[in-house]
Amino acid sequence: MPIPSLVKEYRVKIRKRHDQALYSGLAHFAFTASVALSGIILALCQVKNLSWKDMLIVPITFAYANLVEYLAHRGPMHHRTRGLGLIFTRHTVEHHHFFTHQAMAVERTRDYKIVLFPALLIVFFFGFFASPVGLLAYRLISPNAGYLFVATALGYFLNYECFHLIYHLNDDHFVTRLPGVGILRGHHARHHDPVLMSRFNFNITWPLCDLLFRTYR
Ligand SMILES: [Zn+2]
Ligand SMILES: [Zn+2]
Repeated sequence: MPIPSLVKEYRVKIRKRHDQALYSGLAHFAFTASVALSGIILALCQVKNLSWKDMLIVPITFAYANLVEYLAHRGPMHHRTRGLGLIFTRHTVEHHHFFTHQAMAVERTRDYKIVLFPALLIVFFFGFFASPVGLLAYRLISPNAGYLFVATALGYFLNYECFHLIYHLNDDHFVTRLPGVGILRGHHARHHDPVLMSRFNFNITWPLCDLLFRTYR
């Protein structure tokens, strides 16, 4: 399907706005993946004498991350919120105009910048949000629970970034043919329809909260 002319025009404008000579989409993805994977390995290496009770933190963190993903996306990412305007601009204004349900794919790796979280935001998110919760779990439940929280949260984040990027790759990319990926790509493509974007399909990874809150379409 050809890219609609309005999207084409918008892409030229947004590429100019974000133009940085040294930017590399592949390096951006490699940075995200290596920060997340290093954190996961470092956290898992600290786990000792694991009990099934400690393991309970894994599904709890997964469900919590799914809810945070859902609420952040349904809330400030799609509704201008005081103090969080930048998130709204990056998501609703830029990401959703750059990619619509009729033009979901990147045209080059430099377009990854409009899909992936900025590198600084990753450091901020884990320094000021995930680590304190991990520390609380460490102190209030057990050291293993703290490390498993950090590993699961980082895993969920990496899963988010990988899947979101896969949804915005060309149809002929081999990863798009992996089992189940087509269903998730369809789920996200429907979210990119401007008529539906602020009402349906807010989970980027696993649509659990979309099913729970009846926003699955
Ligand atoms: Zn998207
Ligand atoms: Zn959205």
